[in-house]
Amino acid sequence: MAKEKIETAEILAPLERLARLMRAGEHEGGLNPAQWEALRYLSRANRFSNSPIALTRFLGSTKGTVSQTIKALERKGFIAKGPRENEGRSINLSLTPKGGEALKNDPLAEFSKSLDDLSGKNRRRLAKGLADLLETDLKRREQPSFGTCPTCRHFREKGRETDDGGPYSCMYFDVGLSSAETQLICIAHN
Ligand code: SF4
Repeated sequence: MAKEKIETAEILAPLERLARLMRAGEHEGGLNPAQWEALRYLSRANRFSNSPIALTRFLGSTKGTVSQTIKALERKGFIAKGPRENEGRSINLSLTPKGGEALKNDPLAEFSKSLDDLSGKNRRRLAKGLADLLETDLKRREQPSFGTCPTCRHFREKGRETDDGGPYSCMYFDVGLSSAETQLICIAHN
C-alpha cells in the first residue's frame, strides 16, 4: 500500500508549537529570547563573524533591534566590545566569563533532554529533515547559511601546514585555520 502524503499543516503545526515551547523558557537568568540567541551565536561564531552586522544577519533582525540587544548584554556584563583588527571603526563582540557561565544554564538544555529520548533512527531522520528544510528556506530568502568550514567551498584541507594558524586553509579570507576554528560558524560560508 502506498504511503499517505503528509499534509504541510501536519508539519507546520508541531513546528510552531515546538518553537513556542522553546521560547517560553527563555525568560530566565535575567535575559530575554533575543539575548539568549545572541549569546549562543557569539559562542559559536568564528573571528570573521563576531560583529554586530553578522549577528544581525544571523538573527534575520533589524540593525536597531540587534543594537538594543547588544547594549543590554553589554550593560549586564555578558558580552564585551573590542576593536576589529585592521578594520578602522568596526568592533567585535565576545562573551565575557559571565556570558560563558550563563550558557551553562541555557534554557534550551531542557529541550535537549527530550531530543535525547528519541531513538537513533528518529534522531537521524529529524536532523536530516530539519537541515534540508533550513537550507531550502535560507536559499529561498537569500540568507547566508552560516555553516562551518568542512562544508564550505572556500575550505581546503591542505596548504597551511607550516603556518601558525594552520593546518587548514580558507581561500576566501586567505588565512590559515586551526582545527577548532573549522568547527565555528561563519558569515562567509558558501
Ligand atoms: S572556509 Fe568558508 S566557512 Fe571557513 S572561514 Fe573560510 S569562508 Fe568561512
